Amino acid sequence: DSKAYDREVRSVCPYCGVGCQLSFKIKDEKIAWVDGVDGPANENRLCVKGRFGFDYINHPHRLTVPLIRRDDAPDKGLNVDPSNPWTHFREATWEEALDRAAGGLADLRSYYGGQSVAGFGSAKCSNEEAYLFQKLIRQGFKHNNVDHCTRLCHASSVAALMENVGSGAVTATFNEIENADLAIVIGSNPTENHPVAATYFKQFVKRGGELIVMDPRGMGLKRHATHMLQFRPGTDVAMLNAIMHVIVEEKLYDRNYIEGFTEGFFEFRDHIRAFPPERMADLCGIDAETLRTVARKFASARGAMIFWGMGVSQHIHGTDNARCLISLALLCGQIGRPGSGLHPLRGQNNVQGASDAGLIPQVLPDYQSVADPEVRELFRHIWQGTEIQEKPGLTVVEIIDAMYRGEIKGMYVMGENPAMSDPDVEHARQALASLDHLVVQDIFLTETANFADVILPSSAWPEKTGTVTNTNRQVQMGRKAVDAPGEAREDWEITVELARRLGLDWDYDTPRMVFNEMKMSMRSLHHITWNRLENENAITYPCNSNDDPGQAVVFGDGFPRRAGRAKFTPARVTSPAEVPDEKFPMILTTGRMLEHWHTGSMTRRAGTLDALEPEATAALHPGTLKMLGVEAGEMITVETRRGQITLAARADRAIAKDMVFIPFAFVEAAANTLTNPQLDPFGKIPEFKFSACRVIVG
Ligand code: SF4
Repeated sequence: DSKAYDREVRSVCPYCGVGCQLSFKIKDEKIAWVDGVDGPANENRLCVKGRFGFDYINHPHRLTVPLIRRDDAPDKGLNVDPSNPWTHFREATWEEALDRAAGGLADLRSYYGGQSVAGFGSAKCSNEEAYLFQKLIRQGFKHNNVDHCTRLCHASSVAALMENVGSGAVTATFNEIENADLAIVIGSNPTENHPVAATYFKQFVKRGGELIVMDPRGMGLKRHATHMLQFRPGTDVAMLNAIMHVIVEEKLYDRNYIEGFTEGFFEFRDHIRAFPPERMADLCGIDAETLRTVARKFASARGAMIFWGMGVSQHIHGTDNARCLISLALLCGQIGRPGSGLHPLRGQNNVQGASDAGLIPQVLPDYQSVADPEVRELFRHIWQGTEIQEKPGLTVVEIIDAMYRGEIKGMYVMGENPAMSDPDVEHARQALASLDHLVVQDIFLTETANFADVILPSSAWPEKTGTVTNTNRQVQMGRKAVDAPGEAREDWEITVELARRLGLDWDYDTPRMVFNEMKMSMRSLHHITWNRLENENAITYPCNSNDDPGQAVVFGDGFPRRAGRAKFTPARVTSPAEVPDEKFPMILTTGRMLEHWHTGSMTRRAGTLDALEPEATAALHPGTLKMLGVEAGEMITVETRRGQITLAARADRAIAKDMVFIPFAFVEAAANTLTNPQLDPFGKIPEFKFSACRVIVG
C-alpha cells in the first residue's frame, strides 16, 4: 500500500557480504519497513536480518553527541552503561571533540613518531570511507599500520589467492552456480551466514546439481547435500590432499588446462603422492571410498564451483587450506568458464570493498604493494607528494600486541570493536587500556568505546550515501534514507575533519569526490562511474566498457600473474596450535548465527532479532550433554587456557560429540575470552576455529 509510506529509498543491506539490494519504506522520517528489490545478488530476496534488522538505528543507545572522557572518570575499560555514560564521559561540541581527538594523535606523532599511532577502519563503512581512512593513516602518520576485520575473516584466503591466482577476489559470482553441475561448500554455513546465497545453492540441488558439503559441523545445508563430509576439525589439508591424490593418481586432471594456464604442476604431483585416501582417512575421519567418490565426481564435472568460509580461513593453516582449494580447481580446469570458479564467501557487507580500497597494511588500493617503487610513485603523485612507506604495516593482532608492549600509544578506531572481536579479548582489553590516546568513531558506545578518550558519533548505513562492494565483486550504490540522530555525522566527514586538524590539505565535499579520486589509482573501477551507479545501482568489476554490466566469471584467458599462469602450491598437514589433552579434552569453535551479527552491537539492539535469539548459548551434541548430566537450557561454564565464560547449554545434533560451538555476539558471555590468538604465518589470521576447551558443570 503506497499510502502506508511517504517515500522509498533504494539501497543495500548493511549486514552480510551477499549485498542484497533493498528498499527502505519511509514514514514520518523513520524506516517503517524494508522490502527486497531486484539486485543482481538477491533478485528480491532478503533474509531475516535484512528484513527485520533495521530498528537498531532508532535505539535509545545511539550516540548523538561527541563525548570526551571526564577528568574524574573511573578507570578505562570498566563497563559503561550506554544509557548513562555521564559517569565516564561528558558532552562536547564537535569543535572541541575533533580538536581533542586530532590533538592527542598529533602530540603522539610529534613526541614518539608517526608509527606510535595505528588505525582500525571498518568493513561496515562505504568504499569512500575506507579509502579516506587508510589515506589518513598513510599520509598523516607516514606508515602503514592500518587494517580492518578482513584480517579476522578471509586474510588467509586472500593471501592464497594473491599468491596462486594473482587476485584476491572471487573468480565467479555465487549466482554462477546456475551454470554449474557440481558445487563444493566447505567450512561455511551459508544458511545462517549468507542466507540469500544459500537459496541459490538449494535451487541448484533442486535442478539436479550435485552439492558436496564439507564441514566439521553438520549445519543446515546438510539436508540439501548429495554428499556430506563431516570431517574432523583442523584436518582440511589431509582431506583435500587425499582427494587431489586420487585425481592425480587416476590421471583425472585436465592436462590441456594445466599445460596452458598453470605452473608448478610437476612438483605438486610429486608432493600429492604422499597423501593416499587410505592413509588420510583416519586422520580426517572420512572413509577412503568416499574421498575417492568425491574426487571422481569433481574431476568429471562439466562446471564445478568451490565456495568456502571461515571454517577454512580461521586456522593457523588457513592459507594452506585455501591453497588446496585453489589447486583442486586448477587440476580440473575449473576456473574461468561458465559454472566454474573459486568463491570465498565474504563476511561483512563491505569487506571486499574496504580491502579493495586499501584498508590493509601490506597494500594500497587495488592490492598494489607498498613494497613496489612504481606503486609508491603513483600514490606520491596522486596524494600530492606523500611518501608512502615501503615497509608493510602491522596487522590487527600484531597492532594489539604492539599496544600491549607500549610501542603503539594511540589509536583511531572507526566502526570496529576489537574489545569483542579480537582473540583472547582480555589481552586486547588490557592493550586498549594501556593506550595514551584512543579515538573511537561509532554509532553505539561499544565495548571498545569503553576505553576511549574521545567518542565521535557517526551514521548508521541507512543514514549515509556511498558505494559498497559485495562478495560477487559488485559495486553497489547505497543511498541515504533518513537523517542520523542528534549531531551524529557521516564517517567520511569526520575523517576529513580529523585529517584537516592533522595538517592535511583535504578538500573533499562529497563521497563522489572521493570515489573519483579512487578511480585514479584503481583499475578495478575502470568504466564504473558514480553516474552509472546512480542509474544502474550495481556494476560488477572488472567492467570492459561503459555499457558493460561487468564480468561474472574471470580468468578464462589467463591469470594476472607471470606469463598469465596460476600456480600450484603444495600444502603440508600440520596440527592446530593447541590440541585437546587431558585437561582440555574438547574442541571449541566460534562463529556467527542467523539472527545476530558479529559482536552484536547492531542486532542485539534490533527488537525482532534479539527476541528470536535473546541469550548466549553453547551448542553441544545431545549425547555429550547426557554424558555431562546437563539438560539443554542449563548453565554451563566453558574454559580454555585463556579464560572461561558461563552460558546456557543448547542441544545440537549436528555438532560432533567432542565439539562446542559458541557465537561471538554476546557480550555477557564473550566467546573471544576463550579463543586462541595464534596466527597463520601468511594471512596473519587467528585460529578462531580451534581451541582446546573443557566444559564445567555446576
Ligand atoms: Fe542482508 Fe546478507 Fe541477509 Fe542479504 S543475505 S538480507 S545481505 S544479511
